[in-house]
Amino acid sequence: MNKYMIYCILCFFLVTAATSCEPEAGKPGTVVTIGTDGYWYLDGVKSEYRAEGSTISIGTDGYWYIDGVKTEYRAEGSTISIGTDGHWYINGTKTRYLAGVYSIPDEDRIVVAKFFSRGDADWMQERVEWAQQLGVNQLLMFPDQVLREGVADVLSNSGIELWLIAPFFYNDDNQTPGQIADFGRTPRWGICDDGEPAWEVYSPNSHPSGSWLRFVCPNDQEYIDYRINSLKPALRACNFTGLSLDFMRQFIYWEGTYSYTNPNSLRNACFCEECVQKFADIYGHTPENPSSVPSADRISNSESNNNLLDRFLALINARVLLVQEDVEGSNAQAIKEKTIEIADFVKENLFRQWTNFKCATVDENVEYILAEMRSEFPDLKSNIHAVPFTSNSYNGAVRSIAGQDFALLSRQLDMISPMTYDRLCMRPAHWINEITADIVNVVGGRIPVVPTIEGRGDTDSDYETSLINALKPPSSGVVIWRFESLTPERIEITDRILNKK
Ligand SMILES: [Zn+2]
Repeated sequence: MNKYMIYCILCFFLVTAATSCEPEAGKPGTVVTIGTDGYWYLDGVKSEYRAEGSTISIGTDGYWYIDGVKTEYRAEGSTISIGTDGHWYINGTKTRYLAGVYSIPDEDRIVVAKFFSRGDADWMQERVEWAQQLGVNQLLMFPDQVLREGVADVLSNSGIELWLIAPFFYNDDNQTPGQIADFGRTPRWGICDDGEPAWEVYSPNSHPSGSWLRFVCPNDQEYIDYRINSLKPALRACNFTGLSLDFMRQFIYWEGTYSYTNPNSLRNACFCEECVQKFADIYGHTPENPSSVPSADRISNSESNNNLLDRFLALINARVLLVQEDVEGSNAQAIKEKTIEIADFVKENLFRQWTNFKCATVDENVEYILAEMRSEFPDLKSNIHAVPFTSNSYNGAVRSIAGQDFALLSRQLDMISPMTYDRLCMRPAHWINEITADIVNVVGGRIPVVPTIEGRGDTDSDYETSLINALKPPSSGVVIWRFESLTPERIEITDRILNKK
């Protein structure tokens, strides 16, 4: 690094000299130095990048050179910066050169290979070797992958921690409408505020790629127990470190939300009979039923609120009657209209309590599931696949729609992985860092936040940019989704960035 330091001291003199000769040239060029801490400094201000990428310097001809290659920019008057993608920028124009990478101490960084496709033992062995080469420290996969012949041995011999993807309120096994699931009936589908099932196809502008998404009511206890039992065979096949909870939330098709999505277009669930009744039971406050929730959240009767609780209970009971009197769908339209009425009432009068209830429901489900699992696998850790919204996106939809309260959840989880698919969600790569930073802030840094990025599709450069942004502080690492789809070029990129090759 010494030779660069000399270079930079030289740069400083050159720029100073140029500026003092021609003061009319405007703003002096940026002074680029490397601090004794190994970080890039721009005009004396420390950047967040360790100087391990391309070196920028001023040639004797007064032009900027990157890695010894002359640029078209004269140093005098040119502004140098490092973009959020980690590249050198001259006068705001991106160069193809990386300034360096954010530095997470290698021993603390969590690098996860998350699999989607299912393959046989040889297929898995090959990908385990990629993972070993890259220094991956967690393998994450679906239960049916683990149970393929010979795969458990490959995984057990990999020397890498194993985490099981545990899809809850959506899973591939029982999503066909009308199909009887392994627990003897169809799941109880969630109900949205428009009175329709919590399926993406019922959304007003349903997303074509979301036609698969059908959400189960988060209070369907038999369904939860069935899911727990269906995950156990895979957990028994190998020594698993953790459970990675997927679809552990309320209905939202976040993959189809963009920066311009209208928050009011996001449907709120679950307004089924059981959920609404449970909400009333917990929050409703009468002399006979003193509610356990904080006083500010209690639903009670008073003159000032025009007997809020009675009005709410009357609506609930009216729908119960309609359901009881229904003969083969004769009351379907009336039930739907009553559901809309209940949802409108809740959103207008009880929105804060409803949001808290939704978040508590998800949190309690996590607690229940982990307790059940740990009765057989006592040391099992946990992660959650987080909806990639900041706290304020879409008027706080991460809590009010998705029911994911990371402050609450972080008290019992070991890790959070936001599904920051920047290209899928049509976001710039620095959005990955924004989401990560927001969640770290919400959880107060109690547990690691490890963003998930897309390994497939688009260009190698896009992948590289996503990876760099995923590793920026305060991230604790990266999850690479569809790890199996990494091309040799992307394995090389990953190796270079992670292992500084
Ligand atoms: Zn429900």
